[in-house]
Amino acid sequence: MKIGFIGLGNMGYPMVENLIKTGKEVHAFDVTENYPDGAISCSSADEVSKGKDIVITMLPSGAILSEVANEIIPVMDEGSLFADCSTIEVDTAIQVSKMAKENGLDFIDAPVSGGSLGAKAGTLTFMVGGEETAFVRIEPLLEIMGGKIIHCGPSGSGQAAKMCNNMILGATMIVTCEAYGLAKKLNLDHKVLFEVVSQSSGYSWTNNVYCPLPGIGPQSPADNDYKPGFSAALMLKDLLLSQKASEVVGFNTEMGAKATDYYSRFCDEGHGDKDFSSVILPMLEK
Ligand code: NAD
Repeated sequence: MKIGFIGLGNMGYPMVENLIKTGKEVHAFDVTENYPDGAISCSSADEVSKGKDIVITMLPSGAILSEVANEIIPVMDEGSLFADCSTIEVDTAIQVSKMAKENGLDFIDAPVSGGSLGAKAGTLTFMVGGEETAFVRIEPLLEIMGGKIIHCGPSGSGQAAKMCNNMILGATMIVTCEAYGLAKKLNLDHKVLFEVVSQSSGYSWTNNVYCPLPGIGPQSPADNDYKPGFSAALMLKDLLLSQKASEVVGFNTEMGAKATDYYSRFCDEGHGDKDFSSVILPMLEK
């Protein structure tokens, strides 16, 4: 099987390394021309897509994915599979899927969660949208790069699942941090609050697994000076995608909108490159 891979950044590079480790033939293209050992380097998106059974993309945005899709769909072999793992708009994923089908290709959207650490460890969660036949074709490759592979429904539903999940994550992180800020003002010890919340109805992943304060709970970016992890800028990107999707379908997500404004201000203040749990820092200064 010949695999083409486009976009070898923080996520794509270790994903390709994991494919190569299992003996897969991976042809790769990135504008930076930075490739892992064992990858067959290509000089264009066109070259990396021609004559391949499966082409995987891991790109920064829907606009870039659309550009790349316009270039590669016409040159890909009929019957081959195009799998996009980038996080992009639901409607862009659906448009690209239609274009792929019109050209005789299978398409799936397969965004991930788990960050660059999950990409290195091969433990990503893949949320997959697309037809069952396409899902069955890509599943063995996703299993090499991931720990959990969930077929969410037709095209676009992988992206829909990803943005719903991250809207919960963003809003929950903010309110978790607010609880620790309030506890400080109420003279309640932070370790005590963690002990209570982690065993009570307020528990969440942001508290129990990814506590925003150092020295409390399992190791998290807070214990590493808020080095990401998952940056505030990427959280803002996903929240903006959730708001775009809300607008398209006319469903008001009030808390999601508030979380988006919050991270937007936080990034404007210059904190975009810190872990998204660092929203707690200004709260503790109040
Ligand atoms: P990145 O910016 O590190 O990597 C993107 C890569 O795409 C870069 O190497 C860039 O040079 C390349 N690229 C851009 N335009 C290109 C083009 N036209 N042709 C070929 N290559 C091109 O981003 P990342 O962190 O690897 O994220 C990739 C995707 O995964 C994004 O959609 C992001 O939202 C999503 N994601 C990231 C994380 C994370 O923690 N980093 C977690 C989950 C999902």
